[in-house]
Amino acid sequence: MNDVSLPASPDAVRPSSPRKVVIIGGGAGGLELAATLGRKHGREAVTLVDARPFHVWKPSLHEAAAGTLDIHQEGLSYLMMGALSHFGFVLGGVTDIDRAARTITVAPVCDANGVEVVPERRIGYEILVLAIGSTSNFFGTAGATEHALTLDTIDGAEHFRLTMLKQMVQIDQAKATSPDARLNVVIVGGGATGVELAAELHEASHVISAYGLPHFKPSRDLAITLIEGAPRVLAALPERISAAATERLQSMNVQIETGAKVSEVGHDYVNVSDGRTFEAQMCLWAAGIAGPALLKTLDLPLNRIGQLEVDGTLQTADPNVYAIGDCSAAPWKDGKSVPARAQAAHQQADYLATRISDRLKGRASSSATYVYRDHGSLVSLGSSAGVGSLMGKLSGRGLFVSGTLARLMYMSLHLMHHKAVLGVSRTATLAVARLLMRRTRPRVKLH
Ligand SMILES: Cc1cc2nc3c(=O)[nH]c(=O)nc-3n(C[C@H](O)[C@H](O)[C@H](O)COP(=O)(O)OP(=O)(O)OC[C@H]3O[C@@H](n4cnc5c(N)ncnc54)[C@H](O)[C@@H]3O)c2cc1C
Repeated sequence: MNDVSLPASPDAVRPSSPRKVVIIGGGAGGLELAATLGRKHGREAVTLVDARPFHVWKPSLHEAAAGTLDIHQEGLSYLMMGALSHFGFVLGGVTDIDRAARTITVAPVCDANGVEVVPERRIGYEILVLAIGSTSNFFGTAGATEHALTLDTIDGAEHFRLTMLKQMVQIDQAKATSPDARLNVVIVGGGATGVELAAELHEASHVISAYGLPHFKPSRDLAITLIEGAPRVLAALPERISAAATERLQSMNVQIETGAKVSEVGHDYVNVSDGRTFEAQMCLWAAGIAGPALLKTLDLPLNRIGQLEVDGTLQTADPNVYAIGDCSAAPWKDGKSVPARAQAAHQQADYLATRISDRLKGRASSSATYVYRDHGSLVSLGSSAGVGSLMGKLSGRGLFVSGTLARLMYMSLHLMHHKAVLGVSRTATLAVARLLMRRTRPRVKLH
């Protein structure tokens, strides 16, 4: 379903001759690529297609899920960004890619009642870039598809927020007759997403209850359990970061279960393979990613989790098709692929912009291949704290940072993304505007 809060670009409905560059997916990587190429080559050459009319930076979806970030306030309109950075925008989910004909099919855009607003379109391309991100990998776990929530999309985050708000209100109401009623939230996956969400939920629940749920006491009535299969949370990061995050989460009463593999997700429970059962009115799955199903239709090589294999120039086995970000598997080191991270998507957008620009100008590209630079990892642990390593490698040789400094650095990553798409002065204006708005809005979205 497409949320048609803005009209589709007129450009989108007109049958067109092949566009020079078509980028599918305006996320962390695709939007930056479209903005950079648009500024250089103009909207006649560059077209961005996205299933949504507005962009929200995916690493902030745990804040959207907790309600500490309002997606409608945060969302940046693609049409507006296209006008600012001179790229064309087509609204709609891509359902088919015909590599032989070099066309993509964009699904009809419907309003909230399912009434078609813009029909299905076919768009030709000379160069295609796939930047469609990833979906959750349930690893075939029984019941996960049916019962687990995910933070794959803006809609998923919003669904989680509203479900949690509803549950808290219901428990608040039920307290008079059922004093033992409580909300059990199980988060599966102790990577950055799971850890950040646990911390954010803890904070948000206290704010929501203070705003007007007199009987719901989060310290008594909300139980957050984080289940991780590895021996420690944030297993891909240095041990020191993991230990600091564990300590912080435990201080928030988050129950951490490591070395536990989830075997089944039910309507109100989560089973682990050692036989234990955890009550769960809500289960959030954040245990791994997979390439979106659309990639399977391309008849191009995929890795074992369904990401498109690309070479060092981010090109797939088809010389007219590139892939960046989470949907791609670019070679890294020790036979591994570049990790699925916003900083990788950002770097790849930067690299590919130069390469495609050279191609559009008919210039020979440099032979330099893309090299992933790990600038460290920062994990947000609520509104005032974070933890991470800077300029470090995943091997753990980074500079350890924690507390408010880490949180401020984490926030600066988001601003850097805005800077790449909006420029310095608009980003500064936006940051100040948001600070001012905080004085008139609740700290957690309540509707
Ligand atoms: C809660 C959370 C916290 C995270 N925290 C961090 C962090 O701290 N640091 C970090 O480096 N990474 C973090 N990540 C990972 C990071 O968000 C991703 O690695 C990054 O967003 C990948 O960028 P992308 O451009 O590949 O895809 P995305 O940013 O996911 O964008 C994909 C875009 O494609 C569009 N799309 C998908 N399918 C279609 C289709 N068929 N047709 C049209 N459009 C389509 C979507 O609407 C979306 O706009 C986090 C992820 C989550 C969920």
